[in-house]
Amino acid sequence: MGTARTLASRGDTRVTLVARSDETPYTRMLIPGVAFGPLPPEAVALPLPEVDLVADTAHGVDVAARELRLASGSRLGYDALVVATGSRPRGLPPGLPGGAEARAAGLVHGLHTLADAVRLRERLAGLAAPARIAILGGGVIAAETATKLQTAGHTVTLVARSRVPGVAAFGAPVAERLAAEHRARVRTRFGRTVEAIAVVDDGVALELDGGERVAADLVLLALGTEPAAPDPWPDGVDVDGRLRAEAPDVFAAGGVAVHHDEVLGSWRIDHWEDAAAQGMHAARSVLHAFGVGEDPGVYLPRSSYLATVHGLVVSGVGAPACGRPRLDESEELVVRHELHGRIVGVSGIGAVGTVLQWSPRLH
Ligand SMILES: Cc1cc2nc3c(=O)[nH]c(=O)nc-3n(C[C@H](O)[C@H](O)[C@H](O)COP(=O)(O)OP(=O)(O)OC[C@H]3O[C@@H](n4cnc5c(N)ncnc54)[C@H](O)[C@@H]3O)c2cc1C
Repeated sequence: MGTARTLASRGDTRVTLVARSDETPYTRMLIPGVAFGPLPPEAVALPLPEVDLVADTAHGVDVAARELRLASGSRLGYDALVVATGSRPRGLPPGLPGGAEARAAGLVHGLHTLADAVRLRERLAGLAAPARIAILGGGVIAAETATKLQTAGHTVTLVARSRVPGVAAFGAPVAERLAAEHRARVRTRFGRTVEAIAVVDDGVALELDGGERVAADLVLLALGTEPAAPDPWPDGVDVDGRLRAEAPDVFAAGGVAVHHDEVLGSWRIDHWEDAAAQGMHAARSVLHAFGVGEDPGVYLPRSSYLATVHGLVVSGVGAPACGRPRLDESEELVVRHELHGRIVGVSGIGAVGTVLQWSPRLH
């Protein structure tokens, strides 16, 4: 959407936005408000720029012919293509004993699409409070979801494979503080793996390593995402610093883009603000490729994100996961993430002003 807006604002470029056949584009980060809050589904619709909208899922791209293959069977030609198809959520490990049965019984839910959010809201409404909810995952979405469900009075068990979830994303000082807060507010099973899942009379039973069983009315998956692109990019689109893919005049931005550049190395960021910033950068790279704009240079992430976890405000800017974390020597809980002597990301708890001020000073 960042690309479409940037190009549409010029007036000399014809932009076609290809969206899924069965979907009105929406603001993904607002869907927790539909699942757990008062938002009606139509409230998360994304305001669209003035461009041609084709509601027809792209199944594949013929890069030699410069054409998209659409679900309807039609084809759409392009001079330049920006792939911004986002990500898909990781599911239960393939082959997990009982996983398919629990899913088929409607006892395992995701929270990635608006349809997921609507289904989850209906399911929660049908459960007697307090419901027993097991959340699998240790990232920001798992943490925020645990917070919301615990606040709503449910009994939450948070199961994560790492002993201190979020170390790579935030650095140990922030992750340890969050882990302590989780331990105080919800049931935690950190450093544990799910070995089987069984449908039982009153819900599901998760079997963890070591033999412990966790009973739940439903299981919520928050296991992170992986890039999702049409054929021929099953694992996302590899891009260089200017967001160019290997195929001619193909670019990618946002959760689908797997970056490889000389500054940060290999990385991927799946956040709202950063997806928008990448989209704008990709638009400038397109214009440069066609000789009507300046070279935007290497994309360096500076965007911010905020999350509220059990009343703590977690913030970050840039690409913390790319750098080595070092606790800032201020009185606030702020972690600087350094790479080759430069600060490439900053994260913190309750220090929003300090963290956000780093954005223009990164890299
Ligand atoms: C529950 C939840 C809460 C979140 N909360 C936050 C938050 O608070 N802050 C934050 O920064 N980030 C948050 N995120 C992450 C954020 O939503 C994503 O990082 C962001 O949406 C990525 O933007 P994107 O443009 O790459 O992908 P998307 O927003 O997923 O957009 C991709 C678009 O492409 C469409 N599409 C996909 N495949 C095709 C195809 N083959 N053909 C046509 N169209 C296609 C999709 O339908 C979608 O409209 C949250 C995510 C989730 C799931």
